[in-house]
Amino acid sequence: MKIYKAYKFRLYPNNKQQKLINQTLGSIRFIYNMMLYEKEKAYKENKTIKTKNDLIKELPHLKQKYTWLKEIDSMALSTAMFDLEDAFKNFYKTKNYPKYKSKYKKNTYRTNYIKNTYKDKIYENIKIDMENKTITMPKLNQIKIRGYRKTKEIKGKIINATISKEINRYYVSVLYEIEKEDKKIIPSKVIGIDLGVKDLIITSYGEKYKNNKYITKYENKIKNLQKWISKKEKGSKNYYKIKTKLKETYKKLKNARKYRVHKITKEIVKENDLIITEKIQVKKLIEKKEISKYISDACLSEIIRQLEYKSKWENKYFYQISTYYPSSQICNHCNEKNIDTKDLNIRTWICEKCKCENDRDINSALNIMWEGIIKNKKMFI
Ligand SMILES: [Zn+2]
Repeated sequence: MKIYKAYKFRLYPNNKQQKLINQTLGSIRFIYNMMLYEKEKAYKENKTIKTKNDLIKELPHLKQKYTWLKEIDSMALSTAMFDLEDAFKNFYKTKNYPKYKSKYKKNTYRTNYIKNTYKDKIYENIKIDMENKTITMPKLNQIKIRGYRKTKEIKGKIINATISKEINRYYVSVLYEIEKEDKKIIPSKVIGIDLGVKDLIITSYGEKYKNNKYITKYENKIKNLQKWISKKEKGSKNYYKIKTKLKETYKKLKNARKYRVHKITKEIVKENDLIITEKIQVKKLIEKKEISKYISDACLSEIIRQLEYKSKWENKYFYQISTYYPSSQICNHCNEKNIDTKDLNIRTWICEKCKCENDRDINSALNIMWEGIIKNKKMFI
């Protein structure tokens, strides 16, 4: 079984390397936008579709015209053409039309790994040295990295590396393909998970995982900064000062949430064999304004994504029951349905039939677990 895992490191480029990274980010944006325009033009004028290979063939010509492109990692330029094609493939599926890249949005570039053997010498464009914590990237040579302190070696094949610039920090995310032994087990520990409105995660064991204090701290700080910035004159010195602070706090909040979610999902996958949760429709939930804050906070889709890949990683099972299963309305003791619980404000309720008291979320988690077990009964034989 093949598994894909990304390792994200902080990158410490020297001045010269920083300059080249910034230049590359700009060039990739330039080439991507230009090719997007070319594709649109070709389609409008001649109804022809330019494929990524057509676009890659145009690169040498462009390098003649814009000589500064020669200084840029050529693999990264080709990779941008792959990305453009993917953006169109995605458009046919999701109806989200490919956007022009903006300097003010996410600033990244990706380069695919290549390996050549020439006269018994191996050439690789991306290399990592985990002992000395350096990465070698095309045109940039060796750069210092930080992260995964205890990992002395990553066993796997590098697929690509993505460099990103976030405020004034640089990162590299290296995607590995890792071969894993495929051993299936009969699950003995099963967990049902309700993804929370009030708490992040509620389990069928009755545990409730909350946001931690850092998350609340940063959330409050953001609220205050937003209040301040609204009072400042747009474009003034203080305005920019607060704007930078705001950006930094967002980043801290994002990291605190990520750390929290990683910790929870790791624990759950470690302790259970079959992990059952609901399919969620985030978009639909956001439409209901009163819980939109919690939904974005809880980053539910991130929790699901992590549970899924970590289960696979640990040879455990992950299953999602249908969105339409009324997990919060059924009493887990007697199966009686109580439609009053559609009201999210009802936190506990007493079942009319069996008189059991149900905690809204734990009851849901238990129903999710039972439904998942029923749907996977073959697994237990
Ligand atoms: Zn009941």
